[in-house]
Amino acid sequence: MINLAQQISGLAPATEAAPVLSLLRGTAFSATRDERTRCLVVSSLWQALPDIAGVNYELDPRAEYDLILLPDDVELSEIGRLLGQTTNPAPVIISGSQALGLRADLVLSDWSAPSLSAAILSVRPLVRRVSELPRLPLGPDRNGLSALALAYTRDCSLAPVIRPDERAVVAYPILFGFSNARNMLEELADAGMLRRRFFERLHICQHCDSSRLHAREVCVKCRSSHLAEQPLVHHYACGYQSVQSAFEAGDSYVCPKCRKELRHYGVDYDKPGGVMCCRSCGDTMTEPEVEFLCLDCRQSTSGDHAGFRDWYEYDLLPDSIVAVKGGKLPFSASVDDVPRGRTLRDFTLLVRHSLSVAKSTGRPLCAAKLTVDTTDLVTKVGQRGVSSVCELLRDVVVQNLREHDIVAALHDAVLVCMPETDDAAAKVAVAQIQHAIIATVRPKLNIGVEIFSGVHINQLLMTV
Ligand SMILES: [Zn+2]
Ligand SMILES: [Zn+2]
Ligand SMILES: [Zn+2]
Repeated sequence: MINLAQQISGLAPATEAAPVLSLLRGTAFSATRDERTRCLVVSSLWQALPDIAGVNYELDPRAEYDLILLPDDVELSEIGRLLGQTTNPAPVIISGSQALGLRADLVLSDWSAPSLSAAILSVRPLVRRVSELPRLPLGPDRNGLSALALAYTRDCSLAPVIRPDERAVVAYPILFGFSNARNMLEELADAGMLRRRFFERLHICQHCDSSRLHAREVCVKCRSSHLAEQPLVHHYACGYQSVQSAFEAGDSYVCPKCRKELRHYGVDYDKPGGVMCCRSCGDTMTEPEVEFLCLDCRQSTSGDHAGFRDWYEYDLLPDSIVAVKGGKLPFSASVDDVPRGRTLRDFTLLVRHSLSVAKSTGRPLCAAKLTVDTTDLVTKVGQRGVSSVCELLRDVVVQNLREHDIVAALHDAVLVCMPETDDAAAKVAVAQIQHAIIATVRPKLNIGVEIFSGVHINQLLMTV
């Protein structure tokens, strides 16, 4: 069996430097096209990589690939750039160095044929998992979807770590190469796609926004940190109280107010505590001020004025898994066009509320789930066409319902909840929707319909 890419490279005239160098030097071609692993090699030493059956080496970062191989040290910014232009939502990475931290799925020191081939074999289940997801769209959803896809395919949370070498001091290692990961994650959390778990509160410099701050106590008058704590001395006889140094006269204590000598502790005087003295300006204060010295811009921010930033670890929620599988975030532009297309979370909340209303008022309530046979659909329009067909389906459903009906789309199904509707009326409404789908949506869809009424709606909520 001859690989298509091999044919192309075989047919290309030698004078034309083809941008895609398909280096098919593997000897065994028994593997089918789907089982081949396409590896983007980022190294000037790619020729030194061994031939491995079932593995294609790619050098063009614009080509489609499953895996990135980084056999030697590459500029981190170059890898960031590479990840920024791929359409793969969560490329698997095998790296020769530890520099990528958690973003490398495997760190490999021995790049000989047996070792590399075992490494590629070991990440193949992950490669397969990533390949089942839709490719990344261009535009504002790209990074958010990629972040969710990374967490989903690696089965992990989006967890921060302390990073003193970065101005923000906190970073999300798995989101290597993402600019402004925190804002993106916060938006996703606000949209009900991620659950926050508190990690740390970090203060920020009011001049440059850095969190690399050194906290210290300073003089309230001259802002110097050259402070010393001094005990207070209280003279019982005249009631005068001041810092100990004001009483010191050679080896003994003399009251600076009444000039008497203080002989016995507890009889003539006591020490009721201490005060802070500034060694720079001589001022004394009971409480010095807290101030942050910025290690980046060297300017100070008073503790009262310093803002702070809370950092979180984020877990995926059901809506984010729907988004990853559908290749689309629910709060992007198309949702504005369909205001009643809810997120799964909103849908669940609204349906629970409707259920309790129906229960207390005794009014009917029905729900329906219209499930698309996606295996059938994939053969007709391909994996990537599925999400656009499902969107169209949702739009058709929304257009054929009443204003107070609640609709949400999953990657392969549309959920509908119809208040004030009994079983018979729900069947009529769903039949009407099916007619509209047959009339509007191409290719023809195989749709499974389930109708739930009353308390059975809970079963529906539990399955989504
Ligand atoms: Zn001072
Ligand atoms: Zn005195
Ligand atoms: Zn600063």
